[in-house]
Amino acid sequence: MSISIEWLGFAAIALSALAYLPQVTHLIKEHCSAGLSPRAYCMWVVSSVLLLTYSIVKEDPVFISLQGYHAGAGALILFFCLRYKGQLCEEHGGEPLSVRLKRSQGKA
Ligand SMILES: [Zn+2]
Repeated sequence: MSISIEWLGFAAIALSALAYLPQVTHLIKEHCSAGLSPRAYCMWVVSSVLLLTYSIVKEDPVFISLQGYHAGAGALILFFCLRYKGQLCEEHGGEPLSVRLKRSQGKA
C-alpha cells in the first residue's frame, strides 16, 4: 500500500517538472523575463532548500526528490531571470532577440 502512495508522489513530481518547462524554455530561448520576480524566486529557492533539508532529515524519498527538483529548477530560473532582467520578447512587448543581441554586442 505504501508503494502505491509513493508512486502518487512521484507522479506529482513529474507533473511539477513538466509545469516548469514552458516558463524555463521561454526564459532561456527568448531571453525574456516577463512576469518573473527575482525576489520571489530567491525566496522560492530558499524555502525549497529548507524543505529539502527537512526531508533529508525525515528520510522521505518523495519530498527529497520534490524539493531537490524545486530547488534546482528555482535556482535555474533565478539565474536566468537575473541574467535577462528587464528583457522582453516581442510577444511581451519587447524587441526581437536578434535586435537585443546586436545592441548588447554594440552592433546596433
Ligand atoms: Zn516573453
